Amino acid sequence: MSRAGLTPCVIVHYHEISLKRGNRPLFLRRLQENLARAVSDLGPSRVMQLPGRIVLDLEGNANPEAVRERLDRVCGIANLALAVRTGSSMDSLKAAVDHVVDGQTFPSFRITARRAFKTFPLTSTDLNRELGAHVLARRPEARVDLHHAALEIHVEVLPHQAFVYPDRRPGPGGLPVGSSGTVAALLSGGIDSPVASWRMMKRGCRVIFIHFHSVPYLPDASIRKARELVRRLTQWQYVGHLYLVPFGEIQREVVLAVRPAARVVVYRRLMVRIAEAVARQSGAQALVTGESLGQVASQTLHNLARIDEVAALPVLRPLIGMDKIEITDQARRLDTLETSNEPDADCCTLFVPAHPSTRMSREEIADAEARLDIPALVKAGAEGAVMETFVFPPGAGVHAGSHEPRQRLAPPPVA
Ligand code: ATP
Ligand code: MG
Repeated sequence: MSRAGLTPCVIVHYHEISLKRGNRPLFLRRLQENLARAVSDLGPSRVMQLPGRIVLDLEGNANPEAVRERLDRVCGIANLALAVRTGSSMDSLKAAVDHVVDGQTFPSFRITARRAFKTFPLTSTDLNRELGAHVLARRPEARVDLHHAALEIHVEVLPHQAFVYPDRRPGPGGLPVGSSGTVAALLSGGIDSPVASWRMMKRGCRVIFIHFHSVPYLPDASIRKARELVRRLTQWQYVGHLYLVPFGEIQREVVLAVRPAARVVVYRRLMVRIAEAVARQSGAQALVTGESLGQVASQTLHNLARIDEVAALPVLRPLIGMDKIEITDQARRLDTLETSNEPDADCCTLFVPAHPSTRMSREEIADAEARLDIPALVKAGAEGAVMETFVFPPGAGVHAGSHEPRQRLAPPPVA
């Protein structure tokens, strides 16, 4: 231990995981791995599971603040704090409280003590009283305020060790990425689909990304946006795969064969079929889109039903009940809004009709698709997909030394 028996650390609390019964250890192991991965480039840290919490021991780490900031993006964390670890004797606790209090000015404070094991000789109330009196003796000008304390000092006593920390802050909540399986998100360059992808990460999914572009019919601006969005989202899941699917030629064929009002739903159905082929090869168990009910013509209940008819995998739409302002706020907090707002000719603008139908019937769709060789178009899209890999933190894991996208082989051809 460093400095007078006090070791700097981050203490992490989870919430939803503690509600799990049988497979809680699995979720916890995943959270522990993700924590270690998230800070792997920031100097020494040792991740330890303790009853009811996880601790990152930062002995010898020069930058605890940077570590704490990284953890703001680790799903599954309910709250976290920069703490000191010490022994559980009263003298050690007092020294740790002094450490927290020193250098701070505060008109009022409270001690919030918890015993994580009941054989500790003092109750939480005893601890609150004794440590409160200790602070008052050193700071006679401060007063105890249980309801609106300017400084709250948390004390958690475990067998053989204790943690003391001031303010803790909320984490993202949810479940650790990787604990709920893999999904494939259709990622445009717009505002909605990055938010939808993130919401699935927060439910514990690892997300692979599929972007349909119209190069060479349009400039590659949408690809560059998709890359930047995946780079940002990968900070939440450490490895990101982006599949770039050439869609311009497919759209050209649709334009030649299908009347304008029907085109958007035909495009969407083709995207879903191709995405499903890619998803199956990468082990994804569901598709994700950024659709929100009624936002645009393709997102009416009628048209969503037409889109779902071609999917065998579930199509998840985490934003379905959100309005644009809520989604935009979320994108701003996620730090994807700026990229999404950059101008690009979205792959559909060139090919999108002014007045898409909001009520495509089964018959109309069947009629439109009868003019196309759907299996050939799907095959061309899936086989044309090129995968790029992103890693976070830079230089972590198998793809050491690269934070840039790298070209990979296209997925194996579909049957
Ligand atoms: P977004 O803001 O995500 O672009 P949007 O409000 O523009 O959504 P649409 O253009 O109708 O809505 O797209 C609906 C969904 O279809 C998107 O959220 C995305 O999941 C998917 N999608 C649309 N265009 C593409 C594309 N070029 N590549 C991948 N997915 C796409
Ligand atoms: Mg869009």
